[in-house]
Amino acid sequence: MKLRCPICGRTYDEPAQRCSCGEPVEFDLFKGEPYLGKTVWERFWDFWPVEPLLELSLGEGDTPLIKSKIGRELGIRLYLKNETVNPTWSFKDRGTFLAMSYALKAGYKTVGTVSTGNMAASVSAYASRFGLNAKILVSESASEEKLKAISAYGADVIRVLGDYGRLYFESLRLGEKLGIYFINSDNPFRIEGYKGIAFEMAEELSPDYVLIPSSSGGLFRGIAKGFIELRESRLIEELPTLVTVQAEGCSPICKAFEEGKPRIERFEKPDTIAKAITNPYPPSGNAVLKLLRDFNWLCVTVSDGEIVEAQRKLAEDGLFVQPASATGIAALGKLNLPESSKVVSILTGSGLKTLRNSQSGSAAECPLEKLENCVRGQN
Ligand SMILES: *Cc1c(COP(=O)(O)O)cnc(C)c1O
Ligand SMILES: [Zn+2]
Repeated sequence: MKLRCPICGRTYDEPAQRCSCGEPVEFDLFKGEPYLGKTVWERFWDFWPVEPLLELSLGEGDTPLIKSKIGRELGIRLYLKNETVNPTWSFKDRGTFLAMSYALKAGYKTVGTVSTGNMAASVSAYASRFGLNAKILVSESASEEKLKAISAYGADVIRVLGDYGRLYFESLRLGEKLGIYFINSDNPFRIEGYKGIAFEMAEELSPDYVLIPSSSGGLFRGIAKGFIELRESRLIEELPTLVTVQAEGCSPICKAFEEGKPRIERFEKPDTIAKAITNPYPPSGNAVLKLLRDFNWLCVTVSDGEIVEAQRKLAEDGLFVQPASATGIAALGKLNLPESSKVVSILTGSGLKTLRNSQSGSAAECPLEKLENCVRGQN
C-alpha cells in the first residue's frame, strides 16, 4: 500500500507522515465490498490500511444518524450524525483508534499528539487502553479545565512555550528522532479512520449535502476519501456535495477558496467561540482547497452569533454540542439548499467539553413550602 501526496503526486512507502513538499500524504484509494459484521471496522474490512485491533476498541464509531426537526422550516430533510457519543465525546476517537492500532503493531512504545482539546483527550485515552505511553504537547494558553480532562488518563502533558504553529512540524521531526509516533490532526491513519463516517452515512441514506466543521481539514479529507472510495467500489453512484464550514473568526480555507488563491495563508488574529476549529494555518488546508476545486464543493463561514443560535436550535432537538459542532447548522441558512434535499450535519463533539464558554445555567429558586406553586408555574 502506497502513500501519495495529493498536491505534488510523490509517492512514499509506509510510514511517511508528510511529503517533502510540506503537504500531507495519504493512502491510495481502497476498493472493496461491505461484509456483514457488527462494527463499522468489520463491515468495511477491505478499506483500512492496517488491521483494526478490535479487542482494544472502545466502541468508537457506529454513531446514530438522527432526523432533525430543524429541517422542517427550511423544507429540507436534515439529519444529524451524532459523533458526540464516541468514547471521549468526539469523532477524533475513530482516527485515534486506527492510528493507535498501527503504532502498536509497528512496535512503538510511546505515542504523542499536538492538541489542547478533543484530540489530546482522545489520544490520552487510547494510549492507556493500548498500554502505550503518551506525550501530549499543549500550548502555553491551554486552560486548567482542559488539562484536567487530558490528565485524567495519565498522559504526560507538556506545556510548550513558543510558537504553537511550528509545534506540529517540530513534533514530527522529534518523533522520528526519538521513536515516538505522533498522531496529529491529519496523520494518514487518522484520516483513514474518519472514512467510517462516510461509510455509515451511505449505509443509511444517500445524502445530497454533508456539512463538515473544519479546522486542520483532517475530518473533511477523511469523509471525502470515504465517499470517493465508495464510488470507486461502485457502492454508490454519486458523490454528495461536501461543505467545509469554518468560523468567520478563523477561516483560512474559505478565504483562500473565495479569493481564488492557489494556497492557504495564515489567518491573522483568530477569534471565535468555536475553539475546536481555530487552526489559523491548517496542515491539510491546501489538500482541502484542492478537493473543493476538483469536485466543485462548497466553503461557508458563520459568525459567533449564528453559532450560538444554532447551538440553541440543536438543544431543541435534545442535543447539546460544543460551538464548533453547531457550525454546520449555522451554515444552513446561507446555503440556499434545494427543496427536500437530504442534508447531513456532522455533530463533531459534545457540549459538556466547553461548559466554560456556555451560557450560564438558569434555575428558578423556590422555598420548599411553596413547591406546588413553583411547579405549577405561579409565585
Ligand atoms: C477536531 C475537531 C473539528 C475539526 O476537525 P479537523 O480534522 O481538525 O478539521 C471539529 N469539531 C470538533 C469538535 C473537533 O474536535
Ligand atoms: Zn508533495
